[in-house]
Amino acid sequence: MKAAIISVGTELLFGQITNTNSVYLSQQLNTLGFDVMYHFTVGDNPARLRKMIETAYEDCSLVVTTGGLGPTQDDLTKETVTAALGDETILDSEALNRIKKAFAKMNREMSANNEKQAYLPSRAEIFYNDAGTAPGFALEDGGRTAICLPGPPREMKMMFERQAKPYLESRSDGKIRYRMIRTFGIGESSLETAVLDLIDGQTDPTLATYAKDGECALRVASKRATAEEASQAVDDMVELVKERVGGYVYSCDNEDLCEAVARKLIEENISISCAESCTGGLFAEMLTKTPGVSAVFDRGIVTYSNRSKTDELGVKESTLEKYGAVSVETAAEMARGLKAKTGSRLCVSITGIAGPGGGSAEKPAGTFCTCVIFDEKEELREVRHRNVDRNVNRNYFMLYMMNMVYRVIS
Ligand code: ATP
Ligand code: MG
Repeated sequence: MKAAIISVGTELLFGQITNTNSVYLSQQLNTLGFDVMYHFTVGDNPARLRKMIETAYEDCSLVVTTGGLGPTQDDLTKETVTAALGDETILDSEALNRIKKAFAKMNREMSANNEKQAYLPSRAEIFYNDAGTAPGFALEDGGRTAICLPGPPREMKMMFERQAKPYLESRSDGKIRYRMIRTFGIGESSLETAVLDLIDGQTDPTLATYAKDGECALRVASKRATAEEASQAVDDMVELVKERVGGYVYSCDNEDLCEAVARKLIEENISISCAESCTGGLFAEMLTKTPGVSAVFDRGIVTYSNRSKTDELGVKESTLEKYGAVSVETAAEMARGLKAKTGSRLCVSITGIAGPGGGSAEKPAGTFCTCVIFDEKEELREVRHRNVDRNVNRNYFMLYMMNMVYRVIS
């Protein structure tokens, strides 16, 4: 069933608040099996809202609105939706009682405005508000359904969870399930090429690629009669994708690379230390975002200057002179020095040129060298990454290190 979300509120158009309601509702409606086709945002203006509602129903049978259900003059959603679906509002005694009680509890006088909130469409199923005063509702007219929810996100979510969701579940023609396969080290176009026949040949499950911050993800989605069937179809497709590009996959459950690494280190009880130059502690910062990592993370040392590389890690001055601070030789000595100092089972080092300056023709900005030592095994890389911008580069360097660590311990 096709759905549209209409967010009502002039403050949304001014850019004063971020439209988080539409994001939440899209996710929820999708998992319930509705195909969300449109997001509309409209100010507190009944004529324009009416126009949006009519437009939405040209293509969709479900419209979900948020905002404009309150007691004030500019709250016109209820009246507009009711008129669009050919109904009229009548006094709902339960709603009135609840509003009276809420005011008594707050020790405040109830105004005529507040009474207005107890007028609700005569044919609607009312969603009483457990978190505020404005009730919401579901209203049907022929094949058209409208769900109206309040604007404040906390109220909206609670009403959706408790009332709108059960209402919609009984009307949905299927269940959608999806998984995100996350990869590192493969570009979006190569990833797409590797699974192109799966993308082309299938209508369900569907596959789509996404590129974000130096990594690529694949979303696998299926809509079936039951959640179990949809999950099974998704799981089967995930296995097919893994057969093709498994070497680049680090998570099939939308886990972050840094979280995946920290979790694996904790699970396998592998102690780790890092020595960072160009990333300035970013690797340690990202690793320590995961709770419980203290069980395995010994230390992170930021050795930015040449002197610190020698002082802290015993990198030879002759190595720095002969090969430079950004060299596989230096990266290797950093990791070996760290290993000698800490005894951590896994030691990882990085040295590179974050840019914009500091590069040369031979080693342009974006070049970095990294070394991972895991027990006796040593892996050394020199990478010349496309130079983007200092912090984008630094983030990529860190992800590259994370990925190397992930591969080594997997
Ligand atoms: P109230 O009874 O509070 O007036 P309402 O249903 O009339 O509720 P609005 O007046 O439209 O809702 O919005 C109230 C507040 O809720 C806004 O000031 C804003 O902080 C928040 N809000 C409204 N719409 C959204 C949205 N789409 N995304 C995030 N927050 C929103
Ligand atoms: Mg309001």
